[in-house]
Amino acid sequence: MRYLSTRGDHTPRRFCDILLEGLAPDGGLYLPSAYPTVDDQTLSAWRGLPYDDLAFEVLSLFIDDIPPDDLRDLVGRTYTADVFGSDEITPLRPLDDGVLLQGLSNGPTLAFKDIAMQLLGALFEYELARRGEELNILGATSGDTGSAAEYAMRGREGIRVFMLSPYGRMSPFQQAQMFSLRDANIHNIAVEGVFDDAQDIVKAVSGDLEFKRRLRIGTVNSINWARLLAQVVYYVAGYLRATSSNDQTVSFTVPSGNFGNVCAGHVARSMGVPISNLIVATNENNVLAEFFETGTYRVRGGAETHQTSSPSMDISKASNFERFIFDLVGRDTDRTQTLFGTSLREHGEFTVSPAEFDRIGTYGFLAGTSTHADRLAMIKRTWETDDVLVDPHTADGLTTARRLRRTGAVASEPMIVLETALPVKFAETITEAVGFQPERPPSLEGLEDLPRRVQVMPPDVDQVKDYIETHAGA
Ligand SMILES: *Cc1c(COP(=O)(O)O)cnc(C)c1O
Repeated sequence: MRYLSTRGDHTPRRFCDILLEGLAPDGGLYLPSAYPTVDDQTLSAWRGLPYDDLAFEVLSLFIDDIPPDDLRDLVGRTYTADVFGSDEITPLRPLDDGVLLQGLSNGPTLAFKDIAMQLLGALFEYELARRGEELNILGATSGDTGSAAEYAMRGREGIRVFMLSPYGRMSPFQQAQMFSLRDANIHNIAVEGVFDDAQDIVKAVSGDLEFKRRLRIGTVNSINWARLLAQVVYYVAGYLRATSSNDQTVSFTVPSGNFGNVCAGHVARSMGVPISNLIVATNENNVLAEFFETGTYRVRGGAETHQTSSPSMDISKASNFERFIFDLVGRDTDRTQTLFGTSLREHGEFTVSPAEFDRIGTYGFLAGTSTHADRLAMIKRTWETDDVLVDPHTADGLTTARRLRRTGAVASEPMIVLETALPVKFAETITEAVGFQPERPPSLEGLEDLPRRVQVMPPDVDQVKDYIETHAGA
């Protein structure tokens, strides 16, 4: 399996060559040169496999530069009931109207990002040891990504994490989750500013190429191919559990921000998994829904980016979207370069051609938007009719899924809605919806009272660099 860039750099690369990378050198995103396909026989053979064995089978189609025994061992140590709460890892729960909720948020930080990040931690540790290298992961977070990265990397050999967050601006639960980590290789830096200040510092530090190389700075952001690949597995698992024969099709509805999660669904569908529709559910930040309705992709400015009660979907642009557009335009790298490299940079938007827009249907994409009021109503309804408490992001998914089913826009086949976080992370909105606080897993009782390890700093690039120099052990 070789990987190429959406912008045309065709240097042949294998999985481990891009594992530790973000963007390709030409500014594009990495994708396999062709999607492997799963035939009927393979799909049947996969029925009934435990999650970790299925993960090994799927990953093996994309990774041919890690010895199979090693990969099996990595995967087996990652997807355990101990870490993800049950042997099913991503259990399916039927709701009253034929909708199935696939639980992706039973990992250590109670959000779906754990599924990919936990594997990434194992892969990074393995590959760095193999190369005799070390890595200092630098990132900025407003919540979920940072904690998922820290819980995935804590205690790992050869890896340190420097995670910047806006001081006092994450929820008390999110702060406690991150700052209570006492592992020596995890460094929380709370910047006196907003998320964009933290993000700007990360960009400035990464932009200093001498510093970046010398300190071996890397990232774990959502454009990383390995993260996306890890997510493909649960689409396959969801399909296999919701059906009993390969003649059956299902649809998925995915609460979406950066298009990372649903892009994995696109890969699974492209491999031949019988998925009819992939439904992109957005909140008020409807960059993606607008594209699927109009063909125009328009990045929002800061003033146009709303702070909502499903905050992990509050995005101004969808950083993984280029991967789908690349496929939509027939993998034409010049066209992708024109849309993302030129139009987007110069005008902040692009519109695909009518012919390209017409082709969207062949990829099964549909989209919808929901509001704060929709989320509250859906949390309440799902609690009252199904006895299931869902988080606000999952409620965005359920709102769009149930709306499209009601209007007949999707077939009456199993509809799998991805549950992307547990309600306990968003207690305030849950209380607003149902009038009581969500239950907390016993392991998280008293989280806010634990001692904290965090360095507060002004938004100053040099101070952050000094801190990294001092603690990177280079
Ligand atoms: C990150 C996140 C999302 C959005 O996922 P994308 O891959 O960015 O589309 C949705 N819900 C929750 C809870 C998240 O943490």
